Amino acid sequence: GPGGPHLKRVMLKISGEALMGDQGYGLNPPTVERIAREVQSVHQMGVEICMVIGGGNIFRGLQGSAQGVERTTADYMGMLATVMNALAMQGALESLGIHTRVISAIPMDQVCEPYIRRRAVRHLEKKRVVIFAAGTGNPYFTTDTAAALRANEMACEAILMGKNGVDGVYDKDPARHSDAVRYDKISYDDVLSKHLKVMDASAIALARENSLPIIVFPLDAPGGFKSILAGQGTYTRVG
Ligand code: UDP
Repeated sequence: GPGGPHLKRVMLKISGEALMGDQGYGLNPPTVERIAREVQSVHQMGVEICMVIGGGNIFRGLQGSAQGVERTTADYMGMLATVMNALAMQGALESLGIHTRVISAIPMDQVCEPYIRRRAVRHLEKKRVVIFAAGTGNPYFTTDTAAALRANEMACEAILMGKNGVDGVYDKDPARHSDAVRYDKISYDDVLSKHLKVMDASAIALARENSLPIIVFPLDAPGGFKSILAGQGTYTRVG
């Protein structure tokens, strides 16, 4: 498997929409708690865990700018949405007894810690789950890119992309094509040239440059996250 017990430090990336359950907007507490338990099961294996959570369940810059908010402003609104999601996840993890730090790319000292690389590494060494919030801190980026960036900075051994409704990367949309085929392994270049939906192109490029594997696995499969770390389960490895 791609993972197995040898993986010591990973980046878990989930979209904001993964937290909204079947609500269509915002945060669904039982869903947040379920994902926190998935994280707990991996934390109990001694794996050091970084997380990046998107903000699309609350606000997306592109959609906001389509509704008349200036693009950069809309992107900052999106970044703030990721902070809310990070705080919700921190609350859920801490209620399971897991020490967690939220670290924001945009300083907001009353709310969470600012991003200081060495400090973040120290938290990981102390087995605290570190949630990176506010994306990269820059408009025109996404939380996929933030996940690839922080995964490199934290020397993670893989990015684990948890997705709902799919157990990996397919050659076409498996929801619409019954003959869609899942890749066990695929190169960064093929993901880019075939326009497969894994992460956005700048995130893939960043991962490729540093030979950081991306593992796409089903987040909605109970025990899905843990099984990847145990070297089992269904997934696609990119890179
Ligand atoms: N965003 C940004 N810079 C970043 C990360 C995020 O401007 O580095 C903004 C952008 O507007 C984006 C929103 O935050 O639409 C929410 O992030 P994203 O769309 O990546 O969330 P996801 O789709 O993963 O839920």
